[in-house]
Amino acid sequence: MRDILKQVFGFNDFRPHQEAIITNLLAGRDVVAVMPTGGGKSLCYQLPACLMPGTVVVVSPLISLMKDQVDAAREIDLDAACLNSSLSPEAMADVYERLRSGRLSLLYIAPERLASAAFIEILRNVAVSLFAVDEAHCISEWGPDFRPEYLGLGLLRSLFPNVPMAAFTATATVRVQEDIIRKTGLRYPFILRASFDRPNLYYRVREKSDANLMVLDYVRKHPDRPGIVYRTTRKSVEELAAFLAHNGVSALPYHAGMESADRARNQEAFNRDEATVIVATIAFGMGIDKSNVRFVIHADLPKNIESYYQETGRAGRDGEPADCLLLWGRSDIPRLKYFINQIEDEDERRIASAKLEAMVRYASGSACRRRTLLAYFGEDYPEAACGHCDSCVKRRIEQSLGSEARLLLSAVMRLEERYGASHIVDFVTGKRSDRIRERDHDCLTGFGAGRDEPAGRWRALIDDLIGREILVRRGDPYPILKLTKRAFEVLSGVESDGRPSLVHSEADPAAAITQSESNATEILFERLRVLRSEIAAEYHVPPYVVFSDKTLKEMTVRLPTDETGLKEVTGVGDIKLEKYGRIFINEIKGFLSEKSLSTNEGFRPRSELVKKTNNA
Ligand code: ADP
Ligand code: ZN
Repeated sequence: MRDILKQVFGFNDFRPHQEAIITNLLAGRDVVAVMPTGGGKSLCYQLPACLMPGTVVVVSPLISLMKDQVDAAREIDLDAACLNSSLSPEAMADVYERLRSGRLSLLYIAPERLASAAFIEILRNVAVSLFAVDEAHCISEWGPDFRPEYLGLGLLRSLFPNVPMAAFTATATVRVQEDIIRKTGLRYPFILRASFDRPNLYYRVREKSDANLMVLDYVRKHPDRPGIVYRTTRKSVEELAAFLAHNGVSALPYHAGMESADRARNQEAFNRDEATVIVATIAFGMGIDKSNVRFVIHADLPKNIESYYQETGRAGRDGEPADCLLLWGRSDIPRLKYFINQIEDEDERRIASAKLEAMVRYASGSACRRRTLLAYFGEDYPEAACGHCDSCVKRRIEQSLGSEARLLLSAVMRLEERYGASHIVDFVTGKRSDRIRERDHDCLTGFGAGRDEPAGRWRALIDDLIGREILVRRGDPYPILKLTKRAFEVLSGVESDGRPSLVHSEADPAAAITQSESNATEILFERLRVLRSEIAAEYHVPPYVVFSDKTLKEMTVRLPTDETGLKEVTGVGDIKLEKYGRIFINEIKGFLSEKSLSTNEGFRPRSELVKKTNNA
């Protein structure tokens, strides 16, 4: 299994639970796996497809998704095909031929096909090694996307008693999970409920003022990163998409009111990195398998945490950092309440209302976002706080700012409240100005105590403290800084925590990381991305099918200049190495020689930078 994992898929390790699931399937046992989006469910049936002699039949609800999956499987030389209504009769005949002759390793079908007796008959005459049901929650009325066609799956278990069957879903409730087992008739299945934590997602909530401007601002700060912006109404989708496009952002709209051809075209453009941003209603998403979505913004309040979590889950499937930003305003509530009041069934109405309340609590709360989200799904996050959401970061900044504020106020006190801001800053940063030396202030304790921070930061902090009436400026034309009553509270620690107004509003760790990314690495990443797009266009596949963002990033860090080096990179298996290895190695070599940098000198791998930023 591990050899195939490395050679075919190019991965060094299994993601959590993949190995257990595959082992059970290979041993012939049924499996139900509830894993979050991006957890790596596809590998759980693709790897068996490489190992098992017959055909793995995958039931999947969406035609668009099937096509991408077939493309991805072909990229690693798996003989894969799909059967759906979009195929021409010739293409269909070709698939049947490959299926009958036993050459096909992976066959994707839509659930309605299982209702056809002729098709079942064909299946009975070929060696099916495994049935894998994707989006298995569609079989349950309790799930969010019940599809009656899925009920046909109930027949498989009795028609093919010796073929193991696996049901995969990312829908979390236990009720749905049990319904899946019952309706598919799985026998003593191996049940797996993975943690729903998505450690690479950074959750953030911002008070909403002008949503369009806030989105534009975000997109400008994170240029060229593919992302989804959700809005509730078709009108606001169109407006925002037009507004972004008008401001030079490559953005397209997507909503159920559009012609289906236009919708499909926009989705495809986004999928292929031709459009950077897609502005959409919640109609967008089920058919999207794009692994390099770098952000999901909710510009309006979602109606419940289930939808919110599912939609944010579309970010960062490749495991690389991604942002989930919720713009929140109380003014969104009446609209949602209006729809809830239209629900006729009283119980349903009450449930919907309670769910909205939980959503509002999440948005307006200040507890760790991750902990709150996971707790909602009944999962207990092992730590008190995750450290990787806006609430956690805010708390951390507050704590460190609290000690900085104390350092600054003690300096004002030590200098007996007789000096102005620039003198205080000189003192704190340890600058031996004439005045400092004249008055021997460099001999006092506290001199240079804040030299690790730049003077500008102390300046800004002084302004903050004045704004909060902890310091006051007195005297004209040479104002000096005086402590107020509140300053003494801060000094005694009473006010050290939980004061958001001490926090710089632009504190944005995601942006900080972006800025600190080494320029050269960024340039190389861009070049590799362009190269990937060219290859993808040539082979008519989405770019992330060639290599994921994670793989490209790792290339910019490892800088492989030969095949052995490239093979070390996650996501580079034998087939892809052979297909694209040369091209990427040449690009990297070209880049290195242009910069006359080598792996050993001058050029600092980004991993170090990232570490530094994380510590800061
Ligand atoms: P899901 O269907 O559970 O949402 P996918 O099967 O689409 O998730 O996998 C998400 C991403 O993770 C894909 O880009 C896939 O290539 C990658 N992936 C899957 N398994 C591994 C692994 N063992 N190591 C590294 N990446 C993996
Ligand atoms: Zn947190």
